[in-house]
Formats: sequence, structure tokens, C-alpha cells
Amino acid sequence: MGPIRATIVGSLPKPGWLAVPGILQAPWKVSAAELPEALADATRLSVESQVAAGLDVVTDGEQRRRHYIWGFLDGIAAVDTANLSMRPTRGQRFKKEAPVARLTGEPQWPGPMQVEALSAVRALTDRPVKVTLPGPMTLVDSLHDEVGRHSTADLAMLFADLLNREAKALAEAGAAVVQFDEPCFNIYLDQARDWGVAALARASTGVGTKTGVHICYGYGGSEVTDWKAANRDWSHYEQSLALVARTDIDQVSIETAAVGVDIGVVELLRGKDVLLGLVNVGDERVETPEEIAGGLRRALDHVEPHRLFACTDCGLVLRSREAAAAKMRALAAGAAIVNRELTCVAGEVSP
Ligand code: ZN
Repeated sequence: MGPIRATIVGSLPKPGWLAVPGILQAPWKVSAAELPEALADATRLSVESQVAAGLDVVTDGEQRRRHYIWGFLDGIAAVDTANLSMRPTRGQRFKKEAPVARLTGEPQWPGPMQVEALSAVRALTDRPVKVTLPGPMTLVDSLHDEVGRHSTADLAMLFADLLNREAKALAEAGAAVVQFDEPCFNIYLDQARDWGVAALARASTGVGTKTGVHICYGYGGSEVTDWKAANRDWSHYEQSLALVARTDIDQVSIETAAVGVDIGVVELLRGKDVLLGLVNVGDERVETPEEIAGGLRRALDHVEPHRLFACTDCGLVLRSREAAAAKMRALAAGAAIVNRELTCVAGEVSP
């Protein structure tokens, strides 16, 4: 294994027998009685596909959650993820309103919710395991507060405390990385500065393992890919990454494949691990290993090799399983190309 490693943001497509492929928030296809066994089987397939592709850090593929935010919200008391509400989300960047969970009382953490999934993955592989949680700012942007006692910022801080308890439990149970997903940092730049980054810092305080944040421009659905195709201003990372750079967060995952972001923006993340998005999650075309290698070489002007990871732009949940597997293989192969080049250079200077 060379210094540059390969991994994914978090999610992978679910098997067609578990949930309808190609859509977000897909309902389970199996009965409640069959669900535990089905989720265990899907998790095993997901981990096997990552190991077979050659990834160095694996996840559970988010097989056990219907949506990346609901994996956390499903267990929180006073949050309803069954009877949804509609509200504007994501600054209405992609659509006017989206279905969201409802907050009906004071949210309570019921005890570890994702430790069981983590343990299932750790029983399947010796590779380091990353667990993803929603970031507090993105979480409250995906929630309809029917109580209305708190400001949005206060509600984010409240959820940051609950996320912190889950993150600490995951670290104790052996997670190599706990990653918070904060796509909203590239949308609400002022709020991210005013309280979003503070909420993230609160969620990650004292977690006894590496912490990360994933900041992207959204999944690969058509509303998002249409927005990406039409958008011309890609300056958001200049602000969001500069804010995150000042926190104790260890890793930052960013998107560069499907958007007009210059890879040189990672200069802002000196001293942190960089998960560089080099795989477009919005189409089925499989990147070549040489394309991946090219992106990694450009990042090496700004990131030390042992801090650099070849990664996806975002979750692969909407892709076909075939394309997802091939994209993961391309990530590992691209990292291997550049690792060989680094070994050759090192060999030349110290024969
Ligand atoms: Zn993302």
C-alpha cells in the first residue's frame, strides 16, 4: 500500500431486492420481519465490493438507512421520519420544496444507533471503517420544526450535542473515522460562518478518533446535475474550506469531478487529510485510472501524499451497482498509478 489511499464518501447503491434502485429515500422492499437479515446481507455485499475494488478505508455503504440523514434521525425521540412534511431546503437551489422529517418535541438521543452497523462491518474486514453522520447544519435544514421553540442556530447546537454523543460511541466501538456530511456549507455561506462551523466543531469535540467533514454540491439526481450544468460560480469552497481549515476536524472531503472547481483549492486545507472527489456520482460513465491519477498529481502540489485520498464526489447511492463497482476500482487503480510514481521518484533520490 502506498501513501495515497482510496475510499468513498459513504453510500453505495442498494441491491434491487432491498430497495428501489436509482431514487433517494426509497422504501424497503422486504417485510419488517425479513429486514434485519436483508440489511445484514446488503451490508456484506457492500463491504465485499469495496474490498474487491481495493479501497483502503471502507463504509457500510449506508445500506441500513433509507436516507443519509435518516440513519441518525430514525432513532431520535420526537422526530418523525414516517409522516413527512414539505419545506424549502438547500436554499431552494435544486427545487422549491423537499420532503423532510418532522420535529414534534424535544429531541433525545436514545443511545448508540449506528454502532451495530459499524460492528457488522468490522466483523467483515480488517480495513479501517468510516461511519458517516449528517452534520448539524444540514440536519436542521432537512427537518421541519413543529415546536418552534428554538432558532435554527440553537436547534443545530442542540443536535450537535446529540451527534457528538453518537460520534463518541462510534469511536469507542472502533470507527477509524467519523465523518459529518455538510453540503449546506456550500449553500449558506454566511450562516456557516456565523454558526454552522461552530455547530460542526461542537459535534466533533472530544471524539476519540479521526473526524471528517464532507462538503459537496449534492447527489447525482437530475435536479442536482441540471443545476451543476447551469452554474458558473464555483467560489463557495474558497469560503467554506477556509472556515473548516480553522477547526480541529482531521479530514475534509470535497467534490471536483462534476463541477468547475479548481483542484488547487485544496491549498486551503494544508495540514488536513484531503478526500479528493475525482469520481462523478451523477452519471454511469466510469472514470479511467489515468483520469484519477491526473487529479491526484495536481493535488500533490498542495497536499502531502500520506494526507491524500482518491475519493468520490459524493455518495454513489443513485448509480447502478455495476457502475459503482467500476468507479471504485478506478479510484484504487488511479491511486496505485501515482503511488508507483512516488516510489520511483523516491528510489531515484536515494538509491
Ligand atoms: Zn455529498
